[in-house]
Amino acid sequence: MTQIRTYPHDVAGRPFIVIWEATQACPLACRHCRAEAQPGRHPGELTTREAHDLLAQVAEFGTPPPVAVITGGDPFQRPDLFDLVRHGTELGLPVAVSPSGTPTLTAASLARLRDAGARAISLSLDGSTRGIHDRFRGTAGVYGWTLKAWRAAAELGLKVQINTTVAGHNLTDLPDIVSMVCQLGAFSWSAFLLVPTGRGKALPGLTAQQAEDVLNFVYDAGEYVPARTTEAHHFRRIAVQREILRRRGADHVTVLGLGPLYLGLRQRLTGLGLTPRKARRLPMDVNAARGFMFVSHLGAAQPSGFLPLAAGNVRSGGLVTTYQTSPLFSGLRDPSRLKGRCGACEFGTVCGGSRSRAYAIHGDPYAEEPWCGYQPGSFPYQEDLAAAGLTPP
Ligand code: SF4
Repeated sequence: MTQIRTYPHDVAGRPFIVIWEATQACPLACRHCRAEAQPGRHPGELTTREAHDLLAQVAEFGTPPPVAVITGGDPFQRPDLFDLVRHGTELGLPVAVSPSGTPTLTAASLARLRDAGARAISLSLDGSTRGIHDRFRGTAGVYGWTLKAWRAAAELGLKVQINTTVAGHNLTDLPDIVSMVCQLGAFSWSAFLLVPTGRGKALPGLTAQQAEDVLNFVYDAGEYVPARTTEAHHFRRIAVQREILRRRGADHVTVLGLGPLYLGLRQRLTGLGLTPRKARRLPMDVNAARGFMFVSHLGAAQPSGFLPLAAGNVRSGGLVTTYQTSPLFSGLRDPSRLKGRCGACEFGTVCGGSRSRAYAIHGDPYAEEPWCGYQPGSFPYQEDLAAAGLTPP
């Protein structure tokens, strides 16, 4: 499957990435916050010693080690952040940090992160203007602090990933966000499709048609920026379809039934005069429990931060065993457990849908992805899919 990057190691044995929610404390009050972040730190958070032990458990996965991402809340709310980054780095882990856009993100604090060993940071940008972004983030000034941090991190040689939560507030703004990513530079731009959990429950979601339009736009944006998605696994289905349609000389708008939202986004994108990249960044085949693991601020081992089901706690040890053998993690890696359209879909093995969104909306992590409108078997070039190893279960 040349349109999708696969993890070159046994995905059932070792995750590609482990994300640790170091704290839920955060000075912001973002409208979509998964963590329902609080102003103060929870007394039950992992202590520094317990966090060292967690990082040692992540290192036990072996070489090459998973990427350890320290997220929040705002990880800068922990005074031991630099020590934790250094400790993880000394254990041989590639460490990245996902801070909130606050005045704490100065060139000096980012330099300390880099000097402690952090390789990358991720920043959220949910609008191309101060008004759109600050309104969504619930705090005036976040846009300016984020841009300042973005420039400072780039000057320090830290890789920067830009994350954009896609929801009703910014659907038509997406091309301008892509333009900013082009201008300021980033090693990846990730479009995150909201999961209605935490404070995100109160936000209106996308329809399946809107999600289809947006993800096809993200595919187009991949011509100019290293585009990827979060909690939008059907982007991999779209990457496969678009490449087959390109080879066949077929019109993707007609075949995939794309709507006015897509046409408007595409027109705006092509009118920006952006410079194409040399090569498209291929989407990575990763999903909850399949190359991905999350540890909560209280130490719960989860398949995803957006899927609040736990299979143990790192305070008891056994993170590797939990990932490799727990019924929850093993079950989520088994495509035969998928239900509804996902269970009947020829893309099930490379997509599988968002298990988090299935759980948030249907209460069942194996239910079909609610924001995907694909009808299994409807893609007209089934022989091309079969040649790529994609057949109905
Ligand atoms: S039906 Fe499910 S498995 Fe198929 S493309 Fe949609 S989300 Fe993916």
